[in-house]
This record gives sequence, structure tokens and C-alpha cells, in this order.
Amino acid sequence: MKLFSASLLCFLVSWVTCASAGRYEGFQVLRVSPRKDVETKLLERMEQEGYLDVFRRGRGGWGSPRLGARDGRLVTRFCSPVMYGSVDVLVDKAKAKLLADFGLKSDTLLSDVDRLVENQMRGRGQVRYGNVTWDRYNTLEEIYDYMDHIASEHPDVATVFSLGKTWEGRDIKALRLTRDGDEDTKPIVFLDAGFHAREWIAPAVASYTFHSLMHDATGLLSSAVWVVAPSMNPDGYEYTWTGDRLWRKTRSNRTSVCKGVDPNRNFDFHWMEVGASDNPCSEIYAGPSALSEPETMALADYMEAHRGRVKAYLTLHSYSQLFMYPFGHTLDLPEDWEELDRVAKLAVEALTAVHGTEYEYGSCSSILYLDAGSSRDYVKGVVEVPYVYTIELRDQGYYGFLLPPEQILPTCEETWEAIRVAAKEALAL
Ligand SMILES: [Zn+2]
Repeated sequence: MKLFSASLLCFLVSWVTCASAGRYEGFQVLRVSPRKDVETKLLERMEQEGYLDVFRRGRGGWGSPRLGARDGRLVTRFCSPVMYGSVDVLVDKAKAKLLADFGLKSDTLLSDVDRLVENQMRGRGQVRYGNVTWDRYNTLEEIYDYMDHIASEHPDVATVFSLGKTWEGRDIKALRLTRDGDEDTKPIVFLDAGFHAREWIAPAVASYTFHSLMHDATGLLSSAVWVVAPSMNPDGYEYTWTGDRLWRKTRSNRTSVCKGVDPNRNFDFHWMEVGASDNPCSEIYAGPSALSEPETMALADYMEAHRGRVKAYLTLHSYSQLFMYPFGHTLDLPEDWEELDRVAKLAVEALTAVHGTEYEYGSCSSILYLDAGSSRDYVKGVVEVPYVYTIELRDQGYYGFLLPPEQILPTCEETWEAIRVAAKEALAL
């Protein structure tokens, strides 16, 4: 164990150096398959201490008990010693060797991370004012311009406003869309994306939602006020374009070693109880205190100010193809889980009908893992919004965060159907 700790310390130094360079030459994504308790614990500790960037953890987290809610029945099952979930990790050559030296079995998912990053950035900055397309990823400026363009072209329907300022002073812009008046009394559907900066497909889907809502003829805009915030972590998103494509957290700067907080572990509901880290270098660092980040506070403030009016909260992440309702901090389900499950099923069926993409649905802790401090759990547990879902978009881990531009439009098209159906059910249309 001593040897293990010493090796980890050595690697902390090289890890900080490599990650901050923001270049991915020689980096790979490995799918590691732990076979014993000790291997799972090793990976968990490496993530907690910030040595390892875990893109996707195994189902059930780190060998935790799993609870399934399906077909009106609750099923509890505990991971047996041979049922460890595989884990996707980003490694350079040295870290790949370290994992192999520890005897961990892995397969290479992506051998050329650098080339895929380049592919995702192609066409950068070419979009003229408001002329967004979904055949490539858009920068923050392009997305914000698109929102301003919609608001200026359709002032009777759309308004841009700021939910608050980020750590670096950027506006967290949202587009408010509604038709036929009563803006102050109608129920609200709130959709956000981009809390995790590197999940580029999420802001793309959110901005496609503007387009879809503007063309909707089924009454979605007359029955509700839609608030869509495509980038809840604009500092981080900007940094993924300019500094480090695979940056996840906010950009707050409190320690000299590691910047940023995982905003989706920072919300004030069972904060830091499970699935989060108190180490500032960890990708799942929950922050010095709950709601320490201006980005999470901005959402909390909006939700508190509109308590009782928000009927649905949908938050977009990637990747894994999951449609999840609360809770993540406990295996217990919300009281209305059967209704949440019913709507999730309808939404997923609508999604799959578009391009055949398969999603799983259920409570976060039952189909993924335990995590405390998410916006999803906060909005359900504290603000008591009835319909709350996290959508983990494409894919299931082949490209992961480096989803090629060719998949943006199909992902948008299918996800819009799920959003539409979930909103329709939440608004009882
Ligand atoms: Zn995420």
C-alpha cells in the first residue's frame, strides 16, 4: 500500500503538468475492467484524489448496491464480487503504464484523442450572426449570438436574460420563450445544459431546442413559459475551446494547485454525502461549501424565485444514453416516482422512435450510481419541482465527449422528441 501511495504522489505531479497543457497528443481513453474489490477501490481512490480523470464510472458506481424501479415493482440487487462495472478513463502513456503495472485489465476505446479533438473544433468561429447549424459544434459566442438573434427577430415571443454572472464575470444567458401573453402566471418549463463544460453535445441540443420551439405548432409555447439556458458553465465552456478541450468543472480559483468545482456536486441537498470529493484536484470536487459557485447559485436563485411555477426541469449532460429522475444521493425514490417513471418511459419511446437510439430510464441511483449535490436532486428535493430529469445524451462510450459532428443533428432531433413529450406530460397537454 505504501508503494501504491508513493506512485500516486509521483503521478500527481505529472498529471497536473499534462492536464494543464490542454494538448492531447498521446492520450487515450481506456475502458478499465476491474475484477476485484481492491481494483475498484484503487480506481475510486485515484478519482477522489484527482489522479485519474474518469469519463464514465461503472454502473452502480464503485460496487454499490443497486435499486431498480421497473414495471411498478422495486427490485434491490447488490453487485456481487464479479459484477464490477467498467470505467472509462483518460490517460497519457505514463498513466496507462501505471494502470497496467497495477494489474488492471483495460481495452482501448480511443487511441487518438488529439485527432478527435481537432475534428470537433473544425469550422470554429465561422458562423455569421444567428446562422447556427447543427453539423458542427458552436462556440459560446456563436450560441449567445444565436439567442440574441432570435430575440431581436421575434421580440413578441423571445427574450434573452441573464441568470447571473460566472466566477470570471460572464453572463449565464437564458432565452425565455412564450406566446399569447400571461408571461407572469403560466407554468415554467426549465431546460439547462453545459454544467459540465466538456459535454459539448448538451449546449448543441439546448440551442436546437430554441429552433424547435420557434417552429412548434402544438401549443407548447402558448401553454408555458420556456426558459432555456444552453451553457450553465460558460467559463468552463469557453475554456474547452481555448485551453483544455476536456475541462469539466467551473473555473473558480481558490487554490494554487487546482481550479474549479464540479457544479453538479455543489448543490445544497445532501451535499458531499456520497459520490463527491473534498479534494480540489478531483474532477468530482464538491466545492468548499454547498452553492459556493456563482453558476449553481444562479440556478438556485431562479428556482427559489419561481417556486411553485416550475413544472418541469430538464438538465442535459453526456454521455451514456440515460433518462434519469431523482434521486442520486440515496437509493430511496421520490414519493411520485411512479409518475416520473411513466413519463420517462414515454419520453424514451419517443426518442427511440426517431433514429432507433436506445436509452435506459430510471432513478439515477438505480441505473447509474450514487451522487449527491446534483442540480436534479436539489430542484426535486428542495424546490419540489414535480417533473425533474437528467438526460445523459449520446453515446454509450465509444466517442464519449468527443462525439463527432455528424452525430450532432440526429442527437438533437431525437432528444427534442423526448423533451417535447416530457413537457407535454408535465403540462398535461
Ligand atoms: Zn455531466
